[in-house]
Amino acid sequence: MNGPIVRIEGLTKRFGSVVAVDGVDLEIRRGELFALLGGSGCGKTTLLRMLAGFETPDSGRLFIDGQDMTGVPPYARPVNMMFQSYALFPHMDVAANVAYGLRRDGVPKPEIADRVSKILQQVHLSDFASRRPSQLSGGQRQRVALARALVKRPKLLLLDEPLAALDRKLREGTRFELVRLQEELGLTFVMVTHDQEEAMSMASRLAVMNAGHIVQVGSPHEIYERPATRFVADFIGIANIFERDGRWIVLRPEKIALSTDRPASAHVVQGKIADIAYEGDRSLVRVATGEKVMAVSAVPDPSHRRGQPVWLGWASDAEHVLAP
Ligand code: ATP
Repeated sequence: MNGPIVRIEGLTKRFGSVVAVDGVDLEIRRGELFALLGGSGCGKTTLLRMLAGFETPDSGRLFIDGQDMTGVPPYARPVNMMFQSYALFPHMDVAANVAYGLRRDGVPKPEIADRVSKILQQVHLSDFASRRPSQLSGGQRQRVALARALVKRPKLLLLDEPLAALDRKLREGTRFELVRLQEELGLTFVMVTHDQEEAMSMASRLAVMNAGHIVQVGSPHEIYERPATRFVADFIGIANIFERDGRWIVLRPEKIALSTDRPASAHVVQGKIADIAYEGDRSLVRVATGEKVMAVSAVPDPSHRRGQPVWLGWASDAEHVLAP
């Protein structure tokens, strides 16, 4: 079957006076890793829960694989969800945790054994099949939860903040692992996250949400380079946002050159270094100019001092002009 795996039309969900999801339209393509990104309370989890069937929309329609999901309960949807808490059974070993859903569905025993063994291999847990969840690290537990969701071969895997329970270092490694699995299995993943770095580094496309609305959908590159609104520009990465001749302009810190002599760029301003955040490979230098403080990503230079007069220069095509 062709067409998008998910089609959402005018989907709305209210909780009392709160409109958690407000008339959302969205299409998710087959085989993509799609991220719903937004700050706390923007409605991303509610949208994911409506996909899973755990919340009923007040209005609008939702199709999965071309089928209208109105009135279809969670267990009858071609969808599986990996919860933030993993929700593993503590008294069962890894293999039994992973086999649980298949057993409940009455899949024949030899097939269960085969599928469980294959998926454990894919998440690199074959050697841990007979351990209990309490005998695993956080990252291993996360992979058990993933295997348990994947073993049922859902058309769509929903992941609620899949990396939130891991520490920073592990989270970064696990990002690539998730992307690898998603590509290898050719499934569609829809992931909720409030972490823009995570969404940008993992997703093939993402939706930025704010106050129940989708503000922009696009590839990470499109969203970073051509944010649709000031909100998106400010939410994703660092942005210098200013008004010129009645138009709003977004200028990313790495598009600005910092120098002690006046540069020959199309746009130049003079300022003084307000502060320097050393980040190893780059420094984020904040420069106070006449009207505003500009953030500049520069090659670290030990001779830079707070209060030092500097020039900033950038090309015209470094500027992204927002639609009015
Ligand atoms: P977070 O990252 O904090 O989880 P979120 O973007 O996932 O936020 P949602 O959980 O979708 O946001 O919530 C959207 C809005 O709906 C919030 O204002 C929230 O308080 C409200 N809300 C969500 N679930 C319920 C509920 N069961 N009852 C009442 N209000 C709810």
